[in-house]
Amino acid sequence: MEYIYGMLGISPEVEAFGENVLKGLKERFEKIDAVAEYNQLKVIQAMQKERVDATCFAGSTGYGYNDAGRDTLERVYAACFHTEAALVRPQITCGTHALAIALSANLLPGEELLSPVGKTYDTLEKVIGTIPSPCSLAEYGVTYRQVELLEDGSFDYENIKKAIHAKTKLITIQRSKGYQMRPTFSVEQIGELIRFVKSIKPDVICMVDNCYGEFVDTIEPSDVGADMIVGSLIKNPGGGLAPIGGYICGKQECIDRCAYRLSAPGLGQEVGASLDLNRALYQGFFLSPTVTAGALKGAIFAANIYEKLGFPVIPNATEPRHDIIQAVELGSAAAMEAFCQGIQAAAPVDSYVTPVPYAMPGYHCDVIMAAGAFIQGSSIELSADGPIREPYSVYFQGGLTWYHAKLGILMSLQKLWEAGLVDLQA
Ligand SMILES: *Cc1c(COP(=O)(O)O)cnc(C)c1O
Repeated sequence: MEYIYGMLGISPEVEAFGENVLKGLKERFEKIDAVAEYNQLKVIQAMQKERVDATCFAGSTGYGYNDAGRDTLERVYAACFHTEAALVRPQITCGTHALAIALSANLLPGEELLSPVGKTYDTLEKVIGTIPSPCSLAEYGVTYRQVELLEDGSFDYENIKKAIHAKTKLITIQRSKGYQMRPTFSVEQIGELIRFVKSIKPDVICMVDNCYGEFVDTIEPSDVGADMIVGSLIKNPGGGLAPIGGYICGKQECIDRCAYRLSAPGLGQEVGASLDLNRALYQGFFLSPTVTAGALKGAIFAANIYEKLGFPVIPNATEPRHDIIQAVELGSAAAMEAFCQGIQAAAPVDSYVTPVPYAMPGYHCDVIMAAGAFIQGSSIELSADGPIREPYSVYFQGGLTWYHAKLGILMSLQKLWEAGLVDLQA
């Protein structure tokens, strides 16, 4: 093992440090494996129930009428996530698109959208119109309200109650912290929030942005009352094989409207050719529970390595996980660069390039990004990024296999060590 790690550029000292940390993680990894096993069976059961067979992998072209593979895949998602219906399409270009469809399909002029969990994901600001944009919900006369979380990251029930009124039509709950510093919510917490909201206004639609959360737990927000759950296929549920796509699972009434919004009123789910993508979408969903488990192990490994070296990490080394994102506060631009260069150097694709900080549109400072992915921008594949500013935090996620995630983290440590930025004796 030392030999092959050495061939890749990992020093014995770095490998030993990693192995030492790993020794303490056996029990946690066993728990992750148990969740993966449960979810693997859940996916297989859904595929068997919907009688998936080889004809499902044939694609369609043009209008895509009678695309049995596409329709069966949607029933598989619905069966797995325990919802009445599902929309799973390559025509949904990304997670933001899926969320924009779910929102704009189910909110009419004069109605109000509420986020009871503080600020939404950055890309939704122009969808909602909190940052003005053509075609935003605001432009169509949908209003928006937001209730901040309490200091400790919990729900502010008192003010949520005050924010719900006659016009409140839909509430959006983001499961993952995304790139904020608040905690990620457990499915149980989301269930509690949904029950509270429905006790005040039973007909309000509860939507959960499920990005990065799928298969981290044995239940999903749709098991605890969510009317719609929404996500991206180039994150967890695509298993690294889906080359594009998004999903919305939920109540039939909501999904019908989403389908009309995605294609056109009157057409809905009947159109939308799957081209040659069905097999990848099925196979990716099949692999997703174990892929997600690998990414989770990587996140926990990183948290434990960097916490041991004295860096603040979110989530910390021991707390429970509800998504696959790991933040490490490295404290300097040099350390961020070294970390990202390590992740890049460990990639199966583009390993020879050196990531450098760069001024990206939409940011007020330079940003550094490391990714060597089979699918462009896929964040279920190992990647790391962060804005070059205080507190110099790098966000890192993914890894199609635990062994690749492990190599990436060891390589990040190698680069920090070579630059004299960490002390392995500490
Ligand atoms: C990734 C993500 C999105 C947006 O997905 P894209 O595919 O990048 O458009 C929305 N919400 C959360 C919480 C995410 O993690």
